[in-house]
Amino acid sequence: MDNHLDRQEVISALAGDEGFHIRKSKTLGEYYAYYAVKYGSEDKYIIRTSTNYSDKREQLIYFATILTTFFIVLNCIIHFFYINYLKRDFENKIKKMKRYLEKGNTEKLLYYKKEEKWLLEFWEVLKEWQKRNLDNIEKLDYDKKLLKMIITSVDAFIGLIDENGKFVLKNNSLNHLLIVDNKEYIKAFKYIEIISVIKKSLQEKKDIRQEIYINGIKEYFIKNIKKIKKNNQFLITIKDITNIRRTVEVQKTFISNVSHELKTPLTNIKGYLIALEDAPQEIRKKFLNIVENNVVKLENTIIDFLNISKIENSKILQIIPEEIYKIEKQVNDSVVIIKKEKNANIDFHWNLFPNNQGFINTDREKLILILKNLVENGIIYNHSSIPKIDIFVYEEKDRYKFCVKDNGIGIPEDKIKKVFERFYRVDKARTSNLGGTGLGLSIVKEVVEQFSGEIKIESKEQEGSIFKFYLMK
Ligand code: ADP
Repeated sequence: MDNHLDRQEVISALAGDEGFHIRKSKTLGEYYAYYAVKYGSEDKYIIRTSTNYSDKREQLIYFATILTTFFIVLNCIIHFFYINYLKRDFENKIKKMKRYLEKGNTEKLLYYKKEEKWLLEFWEVLKEWQKRNLDNIEKLDYDKKLLKMIITSVDAFIGLIDENGKFVLKNNSLNHLLIVDNKEYIKAFKYIEIISVIKKSLQEKKDIRQEIYINGIKEYFIKNIKKIKKNNQFLITIKDITNIRRTVEVQKTFISNVSHELKTPLTNIKGYLIALEDAPQEIRKKFLNIVENNVVKLENTIIDFLNISKIENSKILQIIPEEIYKIEKQVNDSVVIIKKEKNANIDFHWNLFPNNQGFINTDREKLILILKNLVENGIIYNHSSIPKIDIFVYEEKDRYKFCVKDNGIGIPEDKIKKVFERFYRVDKARTSNLGGTGLGLSIVKEVVEQFSGEIKIESKEQEGSIFKFYLMK
């Protein structure tokens, strides 16, 4: 046999006690396991043995491959499930956050685990962002409510329409100009006068401010259409100015009536004074009488004008306890001449609460103005030998009811409503001689309304009239 000292197992045995090596046999061409051990007292011999290892090696490789494959597959499965678990866990957490963000702080959601630090940080950022959003939403909501309140509280119509002519928003003022449920302005507005202005503004894409008069309802409006450049919308505002216009018209008619009322007696006075110069003695007295009547009329007219301007300038009442005897005296004093002239009787009938000490809560000056006019009329428009005026006062919880009754000529039924108009006289020809101005009852009505009351007349021709009104305490 050739020298075996260079074999690995022999080298190991010589170096120690034994050696072991697995290798492919050069002679047999298969794998063998070799074992060598020292033998003998002086370690002179080495016993070496070998066994075929090919089958076992193949088995080992086979098992090793199966085991490796098994663990790789197991690893993949575990990995797959773990990834899925992580994904589901993450999804759940995101869902929770979403719920929290949607519902606000009602949902409990807190992460404090160390390994979820990033989630906690992410959550904190999200919460901060949500808080800012909520604050902004709250502010926007408040601003929206405020704007809505402003829009609904103004007494002008405000509407916003888009470029197709549809309302984006509108308030409920001046609803009588609209068919409320219609979305398109063309169908919503009832009057062509309004539609045509909006149409023009939409077509020409420009702002329009215009005063319009709607013939159908005899009302005046100021209309303003403004184009909002950013989103092609148009802001429409409509303000009712009928009252302002009517007041101006009333003032104009009033001034022309005033001039007429002053001019007529003045012309009369002037004419009769000129005629007086050459008038024979027997008719001079008659002329002087006419002059005097016209002076009285002028004086009455001026007093009434002053009263009108006074009540219009001081609309605030000064209600304080007033002694009823003083009121009686002042009314009597105010009509003393005509009362004496016509031999009239004026009686007050007070029906006040039992504990009343002879006072009523009122604005004395304004009450006297009302009573003076009614009592005076009751005496003037009266053909009885003894004109009788009875003033009944009934105290109620928060007001007084007044009835001023006379036994005069009465007012024809169809004229009752008209007597409160300025300068209206039932029988112009006859009453102008009586010094009337046609302003008395209009003053009475205005003052009663300042007391938040209203006045009504019950009257029968040739029997007399009752003027009923309430005054707040
Ligand atoms: P005038 O200054 O002419 O009295 P008023 O406004 O007080 O003006 O009254 C308007 C008209 O109403 C009077 O011209 C008169 O025709 C009628 N009238 C007012 N009060 C009475 C009354 N008590 N009885 C009958 N007619 C009255």
